[in-house]
Amino acid sequence: MDEFDLIHSITPRTIHHSSVDVGIGDDAALYTAKHGVQEIVCVDTMVEDVHFKLHYSSPEDIGYKALAVNISDIAAMGGIPKFYLVSLAVPSKWTESEIKAMYEGMNELAKLYHMDLIGGDTVSTSDKLVVTVTVIGEVEKGRACLRSLARPNDIVFVTGEIGSSAAGLSLLLDETNPQNSAIDTAYFINRHKRPQPRVSVGRLCSSFKRVALNDISDGLASELNELAEASCVSIEIDESMLPVHSDLPKLHPNWKEWALFGGEDFELTGTVSKEEWEVLKQKCETCQLPIAKIGHVREKTESNAVGNRYEMLCEEISRHDNISD
Ligand code: ADP
Ligand code: MG
Repeated sequence: MDEFDLIHSITPRTIHHSSVDVGIGDDAALYTAKHGVQEIVCVDTMVEDVHFKLHYSSPEDIGYKALAVNISDIAAMGGIPKFYLVSLAVPSKWTESEIKAMYEGMNELAKLYHMDLIGGDTVSTSDKLVVTVTVIGEVEKGRACLRSLARPNDIVFVTGEIGSSAAGLSLLLDETNPQNSAIDTAYFINRHKRPQPRVSVGRLCSSFKRVALNDISDGLASELNELAEASCVSIEIDESMLPVHSDLPKLHPNWKEWALFGGEDFELTGTVSKEEWEVLKQKCETCQLPIAKIGHVREKTESNAVGNRYEMLCEEISRHDNISD
């Protein structure tokens, strides 16, 4: 199949957003941006044998995840995902139906979130499959949940459960072989292959006065470290409060490593004032969105980010606080 036929076959027949003026088919896409919102743009690349392996991931799984990880970035800003673009470097061994299946995997999520595929690029490669997805979303002006918004005495929270994706990967790679046959290993594997971005929680957070958010792609510890650095604070978490699946500790003695450093959970972690935490928790409960308190934000104890960058960041943060107060 040539590139033209491929593009034709993956061009959506319907669009969700009437703001799309020109979708696939011209040199670039055109859409009319709304007033009063900020556009959010993010991009992520997945490479065969680095981010997935073909012996355990189907083309649908690959497509699904390539879009999911980007939607998760939009969720972490408190935004609504709207459009996506797909750049493919395809090895010649890939068949037409496999490529279409990959788009089917993306389409599964796109339908769920009413997202439109508005463009992309296709090249061939002699080696591994590379798929790059760009997502465009929006958030009401001034309402994005930035990493720099954590303040001393905030509550630290995380959504869903953590460590399950790392457990799933370990099972897929045969590094973990559970003795207990009652454990539903397919559940953990699915958490790795098909993460569910937390758009609803992100949207809820954006309706609060001040919520700092990050999505968990590199592991809870790493994401919280990013929040702490960006906000010039220290973050303390209580290991005993980490929300994990009840079977996780049965899978491996090192399950805490998965929870703290495993990554790819695509849950959200963030901080919010004590008063607003009670409201956020209540609202999440009402909507059956799992969320748990795991720690506190403290004044920065020691300066692990000395120098100009640190000072500039802190200056910017205090300016922000003065304006929003
Ligand atoms: P150009 O040469 O102007 O870059 P292309 O022939 O690469 O145009 O693409 C034609 C149209 O098809 C463009 O609208 C582009 O965004 C879209 N497109 C190309 N490849 C893909 C792809 N893999 N997925 C989705 N859309 C694509
Ligand atoms: Mg092109």
